[in-house]
Amino acid sequence: MKSDFSLFSDEEQIIAQGKALLAADAETVPADSFRGLLSGYAKLYRQSTRLVKMGDRMQGQLNSLNEQLTKSEEKYRRLFEGGVQGVYRSTLEGRLLDINPAMARIFGYDSAEEMLIMVRDMGKGLFLSRDHYNAFVVVLRQQGVLKDHPLELRRRNGDMVHVEVHAQDLYSDSEETHVVEALVVDVTDKQRMLKELEALARTDCLTRIWNRRYFFELGQREVARARRNGSPLTLIFFDVDHFKRINDTHGHDAGDSVLKEIAVLVREHLRQLDIFGRMGGEEFAVLLPETDLDRAEQVAEKLRQAIAHHDVVLGQTRINCTASFGLALFENESEGLDCLLCAADQAMYSAKSNGRNSIHTSTQIK
Ligand code: GH3
Ligand code: MG
Ligand code: MG
Repeated sequence: MKSDFSLFSDEEQIIAQGKALLAADAETVPADSFRGLLSGYAKLYRQSTRLVKMGDRMQGQLNSLNEQLTKSEEKYRRLFEGGVQGVYRSTLEGRLLDINPAMARIFGYDSAEEMLIMVRDMGKGLFLSRDHYNAFVVVLRQQGVLKDHPLELRRRNGDMVHVEVHAQDLYSDSEETHVVEALVVDVTDKQRMLKELEALARTDCLTRIWNRRYFFELGQREVARARRNGSPLTLIFFDVDHFKRINDTHGHDAGDSVLKEIAVLVREHLRQLDIFGRMGGEEFAVLLPETDLDRAEQVAEKLRQAIAHHDVVLGQTRINCTASFGLALFENESEGLDCLLCAADQAMYSAKSNGRNSIHTSTQIK
């Protein structure tokens, strides 16, 4: 390529030649000079035409690149503006720079503009405290990128919102500052549903007390604790007497009501730390941590009386029932919860044989 100084030297030369020829007397100018001038001009013309075509081609390519850029910008803008997940950019100190409408919606603001004005400092406006925000930044700076990072943040009205954050700590050369870019997914509903499912999987659907499976899970923890601490742990196992008769006389629904009321009644007589579960049918178990046999016998007697003195009222019908109780104390030598339940179950059958509506304590492991 020619340098700036020589770029138009050919043109200048031809113009100078043309001027000289015009100034001279035409008859004295040799024909060769005109021919030379003409061929020089023709060459210039060809070069110019080539340059113009090249310029057109480049312009075309530029236009198409611009078009692609606009389309891609529109696409990402649509994702940003219309997405259901929140997006934000902020400084590392927690000043929000840009957010999308979904981010504002998640946190209860009417628009992105409103949220940007109201939440100046994420440490105060979104996180529970500045310390919580700082802790988040420490993890982000350590890892550079966070994926599915769980956070508990605050909505505009103060309610908690559970989110999962995908965040990146970016170094912006132009401003010489760190910029955080993050995607925020509201998982509050998902978490609530998971908790509800978890609760459903743990509770007996008729009586709403722990089911057999979860009773075992909690019970095994108590057994491990008792084994560690040597603290007393007692199990009460009880079975409703002649329950089949209740079903046969009053119907299955009435039987269900009796089971539900017994569960409520028994729960009222227990401490918060006692573990109460339905073992199946009309059989229940109560695990009493920090409780020796004497105390457990008092509790069982309270429960026996409460059931025996309670009438289940269904319209004009009053149903009275009793239950038989078996007790067993956990001892370190014993094999675990299964063994404890087995001993209490056997004791309960002794109570049945003794005329029902009574309490029997296992002597097996005493
Ligand atoms: P016992 O005093 O010897 O314990 O006699 P029982 O009649 O209580 O014992 P049995 O095992 O013969 O009968 C228990 C009955 O409980 C049989 C079964 O149909 C009934 N049952 C089991 N689960 C439920 C339930 O969820 N609802 C109702 N209504 N009845 C149930
Ligand atoms: Mg029974
Ligand atoms: Mg039974």
